[in-house]
Amino acid sequence: MPAVQRGLVLHRVCNALEARQQELAEIVAKETGKSPKEAFGEAGGAIALGRFFAGEGQRLYGRTTTSGAPDKYAMTVRQPCGVAGLIIAANTPIANTAWKVFPALICGNTAVLKAAEDTPATSWLFAKIAHEAGLPPGLLNVIQGYGTECGAPLVEHALVDVVSFTGSTKVGKWIGEMCGKTLKKVSLELGGKNPLIVCDDADLDEAVKWVCLSAFSNAGQRCAAGSRIIVFDQVYDRFRDRLVAAARALKVGPADGDDFGPVINERQLNTMLAAVDKAAKDGARVLTGGERLTDPAHAKGCYLAPTVIENAAPEADISRHELFGPIACLYRVGGYEAALALANDSLYGLTACIHTTSIDRGIDFAHKVRSGVAVVNAGTFGSEPHMPFGGLRQSGNGSREPGTEALDVYSELKDIYIQVRPKKL
Ligand code: NAD
Ligand code: MN
Repeated sequence: MPAVQRGLVLHRVCNALEARQQELAEIVAKETGKSPKEAFGEAGGAIALGRFFAGEGQRLYGRTTTSGAPDKYAMTVRQPCGVAGLIIAANTPIANTAWKVFPALICGNTAVLKAAEDTPATSWLFAKIAHEAGLPPGLLNVIQGYGTECGAPLVEHALVDVVSFTGSTKVGKWIGEMCGKTLKKVSLELGGKNPLIVCDDADLDEAVKWVCLSAFSNAGQRCAAGSRIIVFDQVYDRFRDRLVAAARALKVGPADGDDFGPVINERQLNTMLAAVDKAAKDGARVLTGGERLTDPAHAKGCYLAPTVIENAAPEADISRHELFGPIACLYRVGGYEAALALANDSLYGLTACIHTTSIDRGIDFAHKVRSGVAVVNAGTFGSEPHMPFGGLRQSGNGSREPGTEALDVYSELKDIYIQVRPKKL
């Protein structure tokens, strides 16, 4: 099927997803505990991404250029890889599903998606709707199971030509190793420990608002979450007090009026509680949160109070390793150079943000911070659907999805030469 027609099919899939957006959002909300409103927004993002890639069917550009030889013509075209093995995390299940499936399909691959074990129904319903909307049978296959029993065999399968993984750095390293053994193409979208700098010239109300969104939205279960808040000494005390007050005022729960919901499962929650305990033993101070919510309204869910910590050493575990929960650490620095150095002192390099009214600082930071995304005066967030997202260092293996850059993950470039034979003219 030509790419243009693949795009038309994917447009119909998007229409069908939109017609059932409410139902999809309800499943996402039930599986994750996030509010129905947020789940609806996430489904909207998934559809927007689908429309972008459906349109790419009409723009699956190759390149032509001049050959060095006479009467010879040179062009480069995109071809499918074959079977795409897709593995995703549970944090934003409908967005994660769309993020992999649409670019894989528009490039002409078939896809086998391993759903996240905590959100199996979301991916299943996505595929069901896609098939009902006219996606030919066999093109999108959703498989269910735990990582080692279901994800690992997919990665290792000889008929899988390209693996795209969104998940933890630990598992990503293993997948990279496995793919290295047979030189299988692989795209790894992994974790982050993202810095957000608050300068002495920042609008502190704005900074507090954006730090709360960066650290706590989706219960901090975002690869782009801001977890290292680096604050200039001159405004540190004022900023800290306002941030702690704002964090305490956040509403935690599964309803539309709440700011964020539970974390995905009990194991994750216990890992985070243990990490906060260890940080406190190592000398950090928990300013607010750090505990499970056990009041009657929250006792049955995996709710962690919004947590703000100070005095953690930059080399302490809590400063180095991603927690994937509503936990932020504050660091006090003397000025811009120290802030930038601390921001860059990380195993990761996914997103980064600075709050400043100085154009010099904003531009200097955007260029010098070692990350795949840099933001001035907003939050640490992922890229928009039509823009490339990915990270440096242990945040990934250098690939970028989505945007047109995702087409490079899911297609192979073929160079074609045609020699015209003047004698035959
Ligand atoms: P995880 O790595 O434990 O699991 C992710 C997926 O991999 C799940 O489907 C799981 O079943 C599967 N898996 C686990 N072990 C496997 C194995 N040996 N072989 C194959 N598959 C295996 O991650 P998690 O804790 O569930 O998710 C959170 C992580 O995902 C965080 O590190 C977060 O930063 C990252 N994430 C990254 C992005 C990004 O775009 N960079 C987006 C969302 C989440
Ligand atoms: Mn990455």
